[in-house]
Amino acid sequence: MRSVYLDYAATTPMDERVIAAMLPYYREIFGNPSSLHYFGQQAEAALEQARRTTAVCLGASPEELIFTGGGTESDNLALRGVALQRRRLHSASHLLISPVEHHAVLHTARQLADEHGFELEFLPVDEYGFVSPRDVHARLRTTTALVSVVYAQNEIGTINPVSEIAALCRERGVPFHTDAVQAAAHLPIPRASDLADLLSIGAHKFYGPKGVGALFIRRGVAIQPVQTGGSQEGGLRAGTQNVAQIVGLAEAFRLTRLELDQHASRLVLLRDRIIQGVLEKVPNARLTGHPVMRLPNHASFVFEGVDGNTLLMLLDGAGFACSSGSACKSGSPKPSAVLEAIGLAPSWSLGSLRVTLGRTTGEDDVEGVLKVLPALVEKARRR
Ligand SMILES: *Cc1c(COP(=O)(O)O)cnc(C)c1O
Repeated sequence: MRSVYLDYAATTPMDERVIAAMLPYYREIFGNPSSLHYFGQQAEAALEQARRTTAVCLGASPEELIFTGGGTESDNLALRGVALQRRRLHSASHLLISPVEHHAVLHTARQLADEHGFELEFLPVDEYGFVSPRDVHARLRTTTALVSVVYAQNEIGTINPVSEIAALCRERGVPFHTDAVQAAAHLPIPRASDLADLLSIGAHKFYGPKGVGALFIRRGVAIQPVQTGGSQEGGLRAGTQNVAQIVGLAEAFRLTRLELDQHASRLVLLRDRIIQGVLEKVPNARLTGHPVMRLPNHASFVFEGVDGNTLLMLLDGAGFACSSGSACKSGSPKPSAVLEAIGLAPSWSLGSLRVTLGRTTGEDDVEGVLKVLPALVEKARRR
Protein backbone atom coordinates (compact mmCIF):
# COMPACT_ATOMS: atom_id res chain seq x y z
CA MET A 1 0.00 0.00 0.00
CA ARG A 2 1.21 3.51 -0.83
CA SER A 3 1.52 5.80 2.17
CA VAL A 4 1.19 9.56 1.95
CA TYR A 5 3.90 11.45 3.85
CA LEU A 6 2.46 14.38 5.82
CA ASP A 7 5.23 14.84 8.39
CA TYR A 8 7.62 17.32 6.74
CA ALA A 9 8.25 19.10 10.05
CA ALA A 10 9.88 15.89 11.33
CA THR A 11 12.13 15.54 8.31
CA THR A 12 12.12 15.90 4.54
CA PRO A 13 13.36 13.60 1.77
CA MET A 14 16.62 14.68 0.18
CA ASP A 15 16.42 16.69 -3.03
CA GLU A 16 18.03 14.74 -5.91
CA ARG A 17 20.01 17.85 -6.87
CA VAL A 18 21.47 17.91 -3.36
CA ILE A 19 22.51 14.25 -3.53
CA ALA A 20 24.19 14.93 -6.87
CA ALA A 21 26.10 17.88 -5.42
CA MET A 22 27.32 15.76 -2.49
CA LEU A 23 28.48 12.63 -4.32
CA PRO A 24 31.91 13.88 -5.50
CA TYR A 25 32.81 14.53 -1.85
CA TYR A 26 32.20 10.90 -0.93
CA ARG A 27 34.37 9.77 -3.86
CA GLU A 28 37.25 11.61 -5.49
CA ILE A 29 37.34 14.76 -3.33
CA PHE A 30 37.91 13.04 -0.01
CA GLY A 31 40.70 15.14 1.50
CA ASN A 32 40.79 16.56 4.99
CA PRO A 33 40.16 20.32 4.68
CA SER A 34 42.89 20.94 7.26
CA SER A 35 45.56 19.18 5.19
CA LEU A 36 48.12 21.34 3.39
CA HIS A 37 48.39 19.32 0.17
CA TYR A 38 46.32 19.31 -3.01
CA PHE A 39 43.67 16.92 -1.66
CA GLY A 40 43.20 19.04 1.43
CA GLN A 41 43.02 22.23 -0.61
CA GLN A 42 40.25 20.82 -2.77
CA ALA A 43 38.21 19.86 0.28
CA GLU A 44 38.86 23.21 1.92
CA ALA A 45 37.76 25.04 -1.22
CA ALA A 46 34.47 23.13 -1.18
CA LEU A 47 34.00 23.81 2.52
CA GLU A 48 34.57 27.53 2.16
CA GLN A 49 32.37 27.70 -0.94
CA ALA A 50 29.60 26.05 1.10
CA ARG A 51 30.16 28.58 3.88
CA ARG A 52 29.86 31.48 1.43
CA THR A 53 26.68 30.02 -0.09
CA THR A 54 25.11 29.49 3.33
CA ALA A 55 26.16 32.99 4.39
CA VAL A 56 24.50 34.54 1.32
CA CYS A 57 21.27 32.66 2.18
CA LEU A 58 21.34 34.23 5.65
CA GLY A 59 22.55 37.69 4.64
CA ALA A 60 25.56 37.07 6.85
CA SER A 61 29.28 37.01 6.30
CA PRO A 62 31.06 33.65 6.03
CA GLU A 63 33.08 34.19 9.23
CA GLU A 64 29.81 34.36 11.13
CA LEU A 65 28.92 30.73 10.30
CA ILE A 66 29.91 27.56 12.15
CA PHE A 67 28.99 24.18 10.69
CA THR A 68 27.68 21.66 13.22
CA GLY A 69 26.23 18.18 13.44
CA GLY A 70 22.61 19.38 13.16
CA GLY A 71 19.99 21.71 14.58
CA THR A 72 20.26 20.18 18.03
CA GLU A 73 24.01 20.72 18.16
CA SER A 74 23.63 24.32 16.96
CA ASP A 75 21.17 24.97 19.79
CA ASN A 76 23.51 23.33 22.30
CA LEU A 77 26.50 25.38 21.15
CA ALA A 78 24.51 28.62 21.24
CA LEU A 79 23.09 28.11 24.71
CA ARG A 80 25.96 26.44 26.50
CA GLY A 81 28.69 28.33 24.66
CA VAL A 82 27.21 31.77 25.30
CA ALA A 83 25.87 31.17 28.81
CA LEU A 84 29.16 29.83 30.15
CA GLN A 85 31.19 32.56 28.43
CA ARG A 86 28.92 35.35 29.65
CA ARG A 87 29.18 34.07 33.18
CA ARG A 88 32.97 33.87 32.93
CA LEU A 89 33.27 37.39 31.53
CA HIS A 90 30.36 39.23 33.16
CA SER A 91 29.12 37.00 36.01
CA ALA A 92 25.80 36.79 34.13
CA SER A 93 23.76 33.86 35.45
CA HIS A 94 20.15 34.44 34.34
CA LEU A 95 18.63 32.55 31.39
CA LEU A 96 15.40 33.68 29.78
CA ILE A 97 13.67 31.27 27.40
CA SER A 98 10.17 30.66 26.11
CA PRO A 99 8.14 27.69 27.37
CA VAL A 100 7.59 26.56 23.77
CA GLU A 101 11.21 25.75 22.90
CA HIS A 102 12.30 22.56 21.18
CA HIS A 103 13.87 20.05 23.60
CA ALA A 104 17.29 20.91 22.14
CA VAL A 105 16.97 24.34 23.76
CA LEU A 106 14.79 23.43 26.75
CA HIS A 107 16.87 20.51 28.00
CA THR A 108 20.12 22.40 27.48
CA ALA A 109 18.77 25.32 29.52
CA ARG A 110 17.59 22.88 32.20
CA GLN A 111 21.04 21.35 32.43
CA LEU A 112 22.63 24.78 32.69
CA ALA A 113 20.28 25.45 35.60
CA ASP A 114 20.58 22.06 37.32
CA GLU A 115 24.29 21.40 36.85
CA HIS A 116 25.82 24.84 36.42
CA GLY A 117 23.77 27.01 38.77
CA PHE A 118 22.09 29.28 36.21
CA GLU A 119 18.72 30.76 37.15
CA LEU A 120 16.23 29.69 34.48
CA GLU A 121 13.19 31.91 33.90
CA PHE A 122 10.37 31.15 31.46
CA LEU A 123 8.64 33.84 29.45
CA PRO A 124 4.85 33.85 29.32
CA VAL A 125 3.09 32.95 26.05
CA ASP A 126 -0.46 33.59 24.90
CA GLU A 127 -2.99 30.96 23.76
CA TYR A 128 -1.22 30.74 20.40
CA GLY A 129 2.22 30.17 21.90
CA PHE A 130 3.20 33.69 20.90
CA VAL A 131 5.96 35.46 22.87
CA SER A 132 5.37 39.17 23.37
CA PRO A 133 8.41 41.47 23.03
CA ARG A 134 6.98 43.50 25.91
CA ASP A 135 7.28 40.49 28.22
CA VAL A 136 10.90 40.00 27.18
CA HIS A 137 11.62 43.66 27.86
CA ALA A 138 10.11 43.47 31.33
CA ARG A 139 12.26 40.48 32.30
CA LEU A 140 15.66 41.47 30.92
CA ARG A 141 18.25 42.00 33.64
CA THR A 142 21.80 43.24 33.60
CA THR A 143 22.70 39.71 34.72
CA THR A 144 20.84 37.99 31.86
CA ALA A 145 23.33 35.71 30.10
CA LEU A 146 21.13 34.77 27.15
CA VAL A 147 17.59 34.97 25.80
CA SER A 148 16.29 32.21 23.50
CA VAL A 149 12.97 32.22 21.64
CA VAL A 150 12.09 29.82 18.83
CA TYR A 151 11.45 31.54 15.47
CA ALA A 152 8.79 29.12 14.14
CA GLN A 153 7.52 26.55 16.62
CA ASN A 154 7.67 22.93 15.45
CA GLU A 155 4.59 21.54 17.24
CA ILE A 156 2.10 24.35 16.67
CA GLY A 157 3.64 26.33 13.79
CA THR A 158 3.45 29.77 15.43
CA ILE A 159 5.93 32.38 14.19
CA ASN A 160 7.41 34.62 16.88
CA PRO A 161 8.35 38.32 16.49
CA VAL A 162 12.05 37.60 16.80
CA SER A 163 13.34 40.77 15.13
CA GLU A 164 11.60 42.92 17.74
CA ILE A 165 12.92 40.72 20.53
CA ALA A 166 16.41 40.90 19.01
CA ALA A 167 16.28 44.69 18.95
CA LEU A 168 15.24 44.88 22.61
CA CYS A 169 17.99 42.51 23.69
CA ARG A 170 20.60 44.37 21.66
CA GLU A 171 19.66 47.63 23.34
CA ARG A 172 20.44 45.99 26.67
CA GLY A 173 23.57 44.22 25.49
CA VAL A 174 22.08 40.75 26.09
CA PRO A 175 22.73 38.07 23.43
CA PHE A 176 19.60 36.68 21.77
CA HIS A 177 19.41 33.22 20.21
CA THR A 178 16.66 31.93 17.97
CA ASP A 179 16.06 28.34 16.88
CA ALA A 180 15.24 28.81 13.18
CA VAL A 181 15.35 25.12 12.30
CA GLN A 182 11.71 25.09 11.10
CA ALA A 183 11.72 28.68 9.90
CA ALA A 184 14.72 28.21 7.59
CA ALA A 185 12.68 25.90 5.39
CA HIS A 186 9.84 28.36 4.81
CA LEU A 187 10.43 31.95 5.89
CA PRO A 188 12.49 34.70 4.30
CA ILE A 189 15.68 35.55 6.22
CA PRO A 190 17.06 38.67 4.50
CA ARG A 191 19.60 39.35 7.26
CA ALA A 192 20.17 36.95 10.12
CA SER A 193 21.62 39.71 12.31
CA ASP A 194 18.24 41.50 12.20
CA LEU A 195 16.60 38.40 13.68
CA ALA A 196 19.09 37.35 16.33
CA ASP A 197 22.68 37.34 17.54
CA LEU A 198 22.73 33.56 17.18
CA LEU A 199 20.53 31.54 14.84
CA SER A 200 20.34 27.75 14.42
CA ILE A 201 19.48 25.81 11.27
CA GLY A 202 19.50 22.11 10.34
CA ALA A 203 19.67 20.75 6.78
CA HIS A 204 17.24 17.83 6.98
CA LYS A 205 14.28 20.12 7.54
CA PHE A 206 14.87 21.67 4.09
CA TYR A 207 15.52 18.65 1.84
CA GLY A 208 19.18 18.32 2.82
CA PRO A 209 21.04 15.55 4.66
CA LYS A 210 20.49 14.61 8.30
CA GLY A 211 23.20 15.20 10.87
CA VAL A 212 24.43 18.57 9.61
CA GLY A 213 23.50 22.08 10.63
CA ALA A 214 24.89 25.54 11.09
CA LEU A 215 24.98 28.23 13.71
CA PHE A 216 25.07 31.90 12.79
CA ILE A 217 27.06 33.84 15.40
CA ARG A 218 26.96 37.58 14.89
CA ARG A 219 30.39 39.19 14.83
CA GLY A 220 31.43 40.23 18.34
CA VAL A 221 29.25 37.81 20.32
CA ALA A 222 31.32 36.17 23.05
CA ILE A 223 31.07 32.38 22.97
CA GLN A 224 33.21 29.45 24.07
CA PRO A 225 33.44 26.02 22.45
CA VAL A 226 31.39 23.10 23.72
CA GLN A 227 33.32 20.51 21.77
CA THR A 228 37.07 20.92 22.21
CA GLY A 229 39.94 19.59 20.16
CA GLY A 230 41.39 20.91 16.91
CA SER A 231 41.00 24.45 15.66
CA GLN A 232 38.34 23.76 13.01
CA GLU A 233 35.42 26.19 12.65
CA GLY A 234 37.31 29.02 14.28
CA GLY A 235 38.03 26.85 17.30
CA LEU A 236 34.32 26.67 18.16
CA ARG A 237 33.58 23.19 16.86
CA ALA A 238 36.53 20.85 16.91
CA GLY A 239 36.65 17.84 14.62
CA THR A 240 37.24 17.22 10.91
CA GLN A 241 34.38 18.78 8.98
CA ASN A 242 31.92 16.50 7.22
CA VAL A 243 32.56 18.11 3.85
CA ALA A 244 29.99 16.17 1.81
CA GLN A 245 27.21 16.86 4.30
CA ILE A 246 28.15 20.52 4.52
CA VAL A 247 28.12 20.82 0.73
CA GLY A 248 24.66 19.21 0.88
CA LEU A 249 23.43 21.69 3.47
CA ALA A 250 24.61 24.64 1.39
CA GLU A 251 23.04 23.34 -1.84
CA ALA A 252 19.76 22.43 -0.11
CA PHE A 253 19.60 25.83 1.54
CA ARG A 254 20.41 27.64 -1.72
CA LEU A 255 17.64 25.78 -3.58
CA THR A 256 15.19 26.32 -0.72
CA ARG A 257 15.81 30.07 -0.71
CA LEU A 258 15.54 30.19 -4.52
CA GLU A 259 12.19 28.40 -4.58
CA LEU A 260 10.78 29.75 -1.32
CA ASP A 261 7.93 31.89 -2.65
CA GLN A 262 6.87 29.37 -5.23
CA HIS A 263 6.38 26.64 -2.62
CA ALA A 264 5.04 28.84 0.16
CA SER A 265 2.18 30.30 -1.90
CA ARG A 266 1.05 26.82 -2.94
CA LEU A 267 1.44 25.31 0.54
CA VAL A 268 -0.56 28.05 2.26
CA LEU A 269 -3.61 27.16 0.16
CA LEU A 270 -3.32 23.46 0.98
CA ARG A 271 -2.69 24.23 4.65
CA ASP A 272 -5.77 26.41 4.90
CA ARG A 273 -7.84 23.78 3.11
CA ILE A 274 -6.83 21.24 5.78
CA ILE A 275 -7.52 23.63 8.64
CA GLN A 276 -10.91 24.60 7.29
CA GLY A 277 -11.81 20.99 6.45
CA VAL A 278 -10.88 19.59 9.85
CA LEU A 279 -12.64 22.29 11.84
CA GLU A 280 -15.72 21.86 9.66
CA LYS A 281 -15.89 18.07 9.63
CA VAL A 282 -14.61 17.01 13.05
CA PRO A 283 -16.64 17.89 16.16
CA ASN A 284 -14.77 19.05 19.29
CA ALA A 285 -11.68 20.01 17.31
CA ARG A 286 -9.46 23.04 17.76
CA LEU A 287 -6.59 24.52 15.81
CA THR A 288 -3.40 24.87 17.87
CA GLY A 289 -0.99 27.72 17.22
CA HIS A 290 -1.69 31.02 15.54
CA PRO A 291 -4.30 30.99 12.73
CA VAL A 292 -2.33 33.40 10.52
CA MET A 293 1.19 33.87 11.93
CA ARG A 294 2.11 30.25 11.28
CA LEU A 295 4.37 28.20 9.04
CA PRO A 296 2.90 27.93 5.51
CA ASN A 297 3.05 24.11 5.55
CA HIS A 298 1.85 23.52 9.11
CA ALA A 299 -1.60 22.51 10.39
CA SER A 300 -2.00 21.31 13.97
CA PHE A 301 -5.02 20.37 16.02
CA VAL A 302 -6.30 18.92 19.26
CA PHE A 303 -9.41 16.75 19.56
CA GLU A 304 -11.16 16.47 22.89
CA GLY A 305 -11.13 13.05 24.51
CA VAL A 306 -9.00 11.49 21.79
CA ASP A 307 -5.91 9.35 22.31
CA GLY A 308 -3.34 10.95 20.00
CA ASN A 309 -1.19 7.87 19.52
CA THR A 310 -4.23 5.74 18.65
CA LEU A 311 -5.25 8.32 16.08
CA LEU A 312 -1.76 8.32 14.54
CA MET A 313 -1.81 4.54 14.26
CA LEU A 314 -5.25 4.57 12.67
CA LEU A 315 -4.10 7.21 10.19
CA ASP A 316 -0.99 5.21 9.42
CA GLY A 317 -3.16 2.17 8.79
CA ALA A 318 -5.23 4.23 6.38
CA GLY A 319 -2.07 5.29 4.52
CA PHE A 320 -1.32 8.71 6.01
CA ALA A 321 1.91 9.40 7.94
CA CYS A 322 1.24 12.26 10.37
CA SER A 323 2.55 13.24 13.79
CA SER A 324 1.29 14.32 17.16
CA GLY A 325 3.75 17.18 17.04
CA SER A 326 5.59 16.23 20.19
CA ALA A 327 8.57 13.92 20.28
CA CYS A 328 6.97 11.45 22.72
CA LYS A 329 6.34 8.32 20.70
CA SER A 330 5.68 5.66 23.27
CA GLY A 331 5.09 4.95 26.89
CA SER A 332 2.47 6.46 29.13
CA PRO A 333 0.63 9.38 27.57
CA LYS A 334 2.01 12.66 28.89
CA PRO A 335 0.66 15.98 27.69
CA SER A 336 3.13 17.95 25.60
CA ALA A 337 4.76 20.81 27.51
CA VAL A 338 4.07 23.13 24.58
CA LEU A 339 0.33 22.37 24.58
CA GLU A 340 0.32 22.77 28.36
CA ALA A 341 2.04 26.15 28.02
CA ILE A 342 -0.71 27.41 25.71
CA GLY A 343 -3.24 26.49 28.36
CA LEU A 344 -4.82 23.30 27.06
CA ALA A 345 -6.21 20.81 29.58
CA PRO A 346 -5.00 17.19 29.24
CA SER A 347 -8.43 16.11 27.94
CA TRP A 348 -7.58 18.18 24.85
CA SER A 349 -3.78 18.11 24.67
CA LEU A 350 -3.50 14.30 24.73
CA GLY A 351 -5.35 14.23 21.42
CA SER A 352 -2.99 16.23 19.24
CA LEU A 353 -2.40 15.90 15.51
CA ARG A 354 0.17 17.64 13.32
CA VAL A 355 -0.13 17.57 9.53
CA THR A 356 2.84 19.16 7.79
CA LEU A 357 3.08 19.51 4.03
CA GLY A 358 5.95 19.56 1.57
CA ARG A 359 7.05 20.04 -2.01
CA THR A 360 5.34 16.93 -3.33
CA THR A 361 2.11 17.19 -1.35
CA GLY A 362 -0.84 17.50 -3.70
CA GLU A 363 -4.50 18.42 -3.44
CA ASP A 364 -5.44 14.76 -3.66
CA ASP A 365 -3.34 14.02 -0.56
CA VAL A 366 -5.11 16.75 1.36
CA GLU A 367 -8.58 15.63 0.24
CA GLY A 368 -7.61 12.05 1.06
CA VAL A 369 -6.71 12.74 4.66
CA LEU A 370 -9.77 14.95 5.12
CA LYS A 371 -11.94 12.09 3.87
CA VAL A 372 -10.74 9.51 6.40
CA LEU A 373 -10.05 11.73 9.40
CA PRO A 374 -13.53 12.32 10.90
CA ALA A 375 -14.29 8.61 11.27
CA LEU A 376 -10.81 7.87 12.64
CA VAL A 377 -11.07 10.61 15.25
CA GLU A 378 -14.39 9.16 16.44
CA LYS A 379 -12.74 5.74 16.64
CA ALA A 380 -9.87 7.15 18.71
CA ARG A 381 -12.11 8.95 21.20
CA ARG A 382 -11.62 7.51 24.65
CA ARG A 383 -14.93 6.84 26.26
C1 LIG B 1 14.04 19.42 14.13
C2 LIG B 1 14.23 20.56 15.05
C3 LIG B 1 15.38 20.67 15.86
C4 LIG B 1 16.44 19.61 15.88
O1 LIG B 1 17.20 19.59 14.70
P1 LIG B 1 18.03 18.27 14.31
O2 LIG B 1 18.77 18.70 13.08
O3 LIG B 1 17.03 17.19 14.06
O4 LIG B 1 18.94 17.97 15.43
C5 LIG B 1 15.51 21.77 16.66
N1 LIG B 1 14.55 22.73 16.70
C6 LIG B 1 13.46 22.67 15.94
C7 LIG B 1 12.46 23.79 16.00
C8 LIG B 1 13.25 21.57 15.10
O5 LIG B 1 12.13 21.51 14.36
